[in-house]
Amino acid sequence: MNVLVVEDDERIASFLTKGLKAEGYATEVAHDGDEALALAERDGDTLDLVLLDLGLPGTDGRVVLRALRERRPALPVIILTARDDVASKVDGLDAGAADYVTKPFHFEELLARIRAALRLRDQSAASVLVVEDLRLDLVTKVAWRGGRRIDLAPREWALLELLMRHPHQVLSRAQILDRVWEYDFDPGSNIVDVYVGYLRRKINGPGSTPLLQTVRGAGYRLLAPEAPGEG
Ligand code: CA
Repeated sequence: MNVLVVEDDERIASFLTKGLKAEGYATEVAHDGDEALALAERDGDTLDLVLLDLGLPGTDGRVVLRALRERRPALPVIILTARDDVASKVDGLDAGAADYVTKPFHFEELLARIRAALRLRDQSAASVLVVEDLRLDLVTKVAWRGGRRIDLAPREWALLELLMRHPHQVLSRAQILDRVWEYDFDPGSNIVDVYVGYLRRKINGPGSTPLLQTVRGAGYRLLAPEAPGEG
């Protein structure tokens, strides 16, 4: 297991890496946000977990967290910070942190939280649907677009899950009605179009590529942004 420690305080960084190594973890250290992002870019495939300080010189830890969630959505991040106010905790967890530990901390507890985050990652590896930067966690029932969490009503969730299980494939209104609503709706009903509209507004944040496309006369599909489409 390879842990990236993002910590500008040399004393804490050294304490963490020594302790983690003694427990059999490999470690890398980044002393600021930019170094953390560069290391995550370079070694992302071999990293298992990130311990992230929030108060960092240069790029703030919150910005680093969002960038990590966007570039490496499967990589668990545990925030380790002196910021102990509720707003910071809520903000960090909503931004996709696996856990939030405040300084001063007990090393044994930190180890237990690391193990818990790694267990959750292993369990959820097979239960996350990913299309581009859109991610649906089937265990925790949370949807993400990049680093942004998306709240979905149950039918919106079912519709998005169906589309994400068949990326690039056109699904007709009748197929969607049948699978998401599970009973015979009036075929003239526009309920699918209405829900596609709801979903589109939620998953297409400002500046993001439209993923949910209308194929005229055929239905809807999720597809790669480089492909031509009608948005
Ligand atoms: Ca710090």
